[in-house]
Amino acid sequence: MNLFNPVKEKDENQCSICLETTHNTTFNIGEQSFSFPSHLIHPFLCRHTFHDICLYKWIINNHTTCPYCRQELAPNQSELWMHMVNAGTLLEHVPPEFRTYDIYKTAVGKDGYNLSIVPMELRNRELCMLAIQNSGDSFKYVPEELKTQEICEEFVRLNGSSMEHMPDELITFNMCVDVVRQCGLYLSMIPPRHQTYELYTEMVRSSGHMICMVPSDMRDLPLYEEAVKQNITAICRVPEHIRSNILHKINSQE
Ligand SMILES: [Zn+2]
Ligand SMILES: [Zn+2]
Repeated sequence: MNLFNPVKEKDENQCSICLETTHNTTFNIGEQSFSFPSHLIHPFLCRHTFHDICLYKWIINNHTTCPYCRQELAPNQSELWMHMVNAGTLLEHVPPEFRTYDIYKTAVGKDGYNLSIVPMELRNRELCMLAIQNSGDSFKYVPEELKTQEICEEFVRLNGSSMEHMPDELITFNMCVDVVRQCGLYLSMIPPRHQTYELYTEMVRSSGHMICMVPSDMRDLPLYEEAVKQNITAICRVPEHIRSNILHKINSQE
């Protein structure tokens, strides 16, 4: 017997339940049916390999042992579901009685949208931060009392495109700068009190072409200059009678 080359008991590329290597999951939406391949997972104590869908069907019926070797799959059912979520099982498919805080945390870390499924009383700062860090769509699920300056700023820093659902009094000038820098198109979301000349200057600094979004009564020579300095092609946005003026000035500065 060669101890250094043990015979592999089971093929790691084969599912211990359906005994296939590949397996397609088919589901129907209306008339159409869709099919996609299942993933092979093996994060369990016995190290046997399963398709995610095959194992899901097995443990949703309260089985806790490996269908192949009968060992416990995990120290307890919550940990088992934790493995499943880690392997890609959707949070809504985990029976509610096994959804621990760590499972919520893992799910929210994978997709911030999962915050919407976390019970209100568990939506704390940690989960909310995690959610907004990885989903631009999750801010609306942050409880009102947690919409602090810090969380709002972090959200805008990461997802400058959206300030809806944000309490108006928490929107600072710096947040508005983040928004216009990342996407000037969302200018309409900026509270009027922050739509200042300084803000438009920041906007033009991020892209000279945004000069066209500045209200015409605020477009002065320095602003046009800034725009052309950032993007020389923004010269087409400058009124004809001051173009040569601006080009001359920029040339002499270089
Ligand atoms: Zn299978
Ligand atoms: Zn096993």
